[in-house]
Amino acid sequence: MDPMSATGNQPSPANSRARIATVWLGGCSGCHMSFLDLDEWLFELARIADVVYSPVADIKEYPENVDAVLVEGAVANTDNLELIRKVRARTKVVISFGDCAITGNVTALRNPLGSPESLLRRAYIEEADVQPGIPEERPIVPELLPRVLPVHHVVKVDAFLHGCPPSPERIRTALEQLLKPNQPAAPEKDQTREL
Ligand code: SF4
Repeated sequence: MDPMSATGNQPSPANSRARIATVWLGGCSGCHMSFLDLDEWLFELARIADVVYSPVADIKEYPENVDAVLVEGAVANTDNLELIRKVRARTKVVISFGDCAITGNVTALRNPLGSPESLLRRAYIEEADVQPGIPEERPIVPELLPRVLPVHHVVKVDAFLHGCPPSPERIRTALEQLLKPNQPAAPEKDQTREL
């Protein structure tokens, strides 16, 4: 990736490796499974980029100065909200990765069913077979937001990668496009792209 983006971030040295990340919000992890299905190509990726944050790596804090991030899942709870704001502030190119991130998709199926309180009561008390009780342990169990939101309803998104999940071939094509030398890493202001 040409580390110079159209977002106003300072360029990294020309010979530096790209810093990429993947993030898991409210999703089923299927998009990450598809990413892992890139199999041997992940070794190619490792030759040109460092994965600096991902649920498949044991890194606790989202780092500064990330070139591009794949964001799986919708924004469903307070933890998701805090993380995606941090991700946006620290990343040049934010990619909505899969249909839950782009539209809410499966994660947003709860939206027409009422408030989080009524949903939790129904799932954990009215329909409980044993030990009815709503799980509450702040801050270990994050609070549900009133509605599940697509990522671009919360922060600016630079590109969309559709699919449930996107196929490994599409993920590879998108990453190759982003990591190709001399490609702009982000679209012009207020534009998003389809990958
Ligand atoms: S888009 Fe599909 S595969 Fe990806 S997190 Fe949502 S339900 Fe799972």
